Amino acid sequence: MTLPLPFSRPLATLLAALATTGAALAQDTPPNIDPAEFRSCLNELRATPAFSRITPATYAQHTDGLAADPTVLVLLNRQPEFTMPVWDYLAVLVDDERVADGRAAHAKWHDTLQKIEQQTGVAPHIVIGVWGVESNFGQNLGGRPLVQSLATLSCFGRRQAYFRGEFASALRILQEGHIPGDKLVGSWAGAFGQTQFMPSTFFRSAVDFDGDGRRDIVDTVPDALASTAKFLQNAGYRRGEPWGFEVRLPAGYSTAGASRKAKRPIAAWRAAGLTLMDGSPLPDSVPSAGLMVPARGGPAFLVGRNFDTLYSYNASENYGLAIAQLSNLVTAPPGMPVGFVQAWPTDDPGLSRAQNRELQTLLLARGHDIGTADGMIGARTREAIRAEQQRLGHKVDGRAGQRLLGALRGG
Ligand code: CA
Repeated sequence: MTLPLPFSRPLATLLAALATTGAALAQDTPPNIDPAEFRSCLNELRATPAFSRITPATYAQHTDGLAADPTVLVLLNRQPEFTMPVWDYLAVLVDDERVADGRAAHAKWHDTLQKIEQQTGVAPHIVIGVWGVESNFGQNLGGRPLVQSLATLSCFGRRQAYFRGEFASALRILQEGHIPGDKLVGSWAGAFGQTQFMPSTFFRSAVDFDGDGRRDIVDTVPDALASTAKFLQNAGYRRGEPWGFEVRLPAGYSTAGASRKAKRPIAAWRAAGLTLMDGSPLPDSVPSAGLMVPARGGPAFLVGRNFDTLYSYNASENYGLAIAQLSNLVTAPPGMPVGFVQAWPTDDPGLSRAQNRELQTLLLARGHDIGTADGMIGARTREAIRAEQQRLGHKVDGRAGQRLLGALRGG
């Protein structure tokens, strides 16, 4: 699945909240929608070819009396104020909690994952990595009714043609009885279930693995895991190949122009002097790979075809790297640190979810009214962070990082 828009998934929304530093902007006010205009749009849509598979009864059942949700139009237009550094994404998406949850899920679903690998070639730890990053192992599915969001986006705002196709696919999921209407909830843009598929992706990749006749990626874990594997298989996943590995570059090696897409035979990289981090020769398990350097001076990776399938899940190299690293850690020896061998080029690394909660607890203790310490850095937490950064003489950017956490721990 190609992520249709930035920040359209629950975890991505959380991260976008971390990246947005400003106070509420004028564009955050939902537009007024005329109910008659929405009704007229829905009546016109019904007759268009995109909805040819939807019966009049299904259409009426799910759209009669439906109100538009103008808040999705705010989210459609929201832009992050700065690009979050890759180390902040990784700190939240691959932390000790998610690794522990991933190890437990890997053990719990072992037999199912083995069968899925036999059928699709996709390794169990890779499926677990996607599951953990996409929906926190089914715990973070998003709560917006898909039909309402997609109907609104089909009638107002940009990209209406795209969302009409997704709206029609959502109705088809309901018509075919795969998922009950009250369970078809997700992100504002329509990604839903444990795999965070868009409705059109559902019809390309969702699998009925438990054989009950329904492709239920919301409440049936085997269906969700098999659907993730099917998606990766459709994207060209190659059985038995690792996604890639962290590599050591020879001294003075220029990474200018490094690209995941510029694949070369592994022998060529070996000849150029690249090794594994312990100095041993690059293995032949990945026949050809591209050099990916997310931040100059930080960790470098040789990534193969299977990394590209992880990329295609979210159209983001940072998300792909989070999935890849999480998948490595769920099968690593216990106690393996969550970072890479090479440190990120920063003196103020990002915070895990546990550290975000600790930071919030310290802010509460200093009298900031930020609600509960839930690990989600929202507007009020950012405001409190800015106040403390000002007091401490730090750079005032509202970012939750190790430097501020360390200063607040010290009183
Ligand atoms: Ca099923």
